[in-house]
Amino acid sequence: MKIGVLALQGDFAEHISTLRRLGVETVEVRLPGHLDDLNGLILPGGESTTIARLAVAFGLMEPLRDFGREKAIWGTCAGAIFLSKDAKRDQPLLGLMDITVQRNAFGRQVDSFEVDLDIPELKAATRTEAPYHAVFIRAPLIESVSGAAQPIATLPDGRIVAARQGKLLATSFHPELTPDTRFHEYFLSLAE
Ligand code: GLN
Repeated sequence: MKIGVLALQGDFAEHISTLRRLGVETVEVRLPGHLDDLNGLILPGGESTTIARLAVAFGLMEPLRDFGREKAIWGTCAGAIFLSKDAKRDQPLLGLMDITVQRNAFGRQVDSFEVDLDIPELKAATRTEAPYHAVFIRAPLIESVSGAAQPIATLPDGRIVAARQGKLLATSFHPELTPDTRFHEYFLSLAE
């Protein structure tokens, strides 16, 4: 199993260290050729406009789209925005997932928060019962899902914060910033 992490901007190092803790071979992806032989790819959190601008400059847009049509991709926060087909403003998007996101839906940096979520699909995939402690930092909301995309996690008030569409996964929050490795294990099961 070999997993790439898009390493243009954002917290790719945290994803890599979580994957290493799980004993997974990782590759920092900066150029199209780095996608060869990967089983899956993680798009980290950061600033979606910056990540997108760099992806355009490095000729990665079409190679990433081709990759996502076949293989597993997981976007966390800014990465989830980049995966979406609609961010309700003009910025380059991969458009792979049938989700509409609202950027910075919870306010500014100071409005960042943490909350325990009940995520049945995560619990089933990892055969665990504990709630999932999710960290939100200037997070997007997944305003709606359509087509083959399904919500997999919601806030207590019902707003969607994680979705899956086949092997594509989007989370508004940052599993790479907590010691809980279950989301990475869940993604590995999609990439297998
Ligand atoms: N607010 C950022 C954006 O819109 C995402 C923040 C994050 O990835 N933590 O791209």
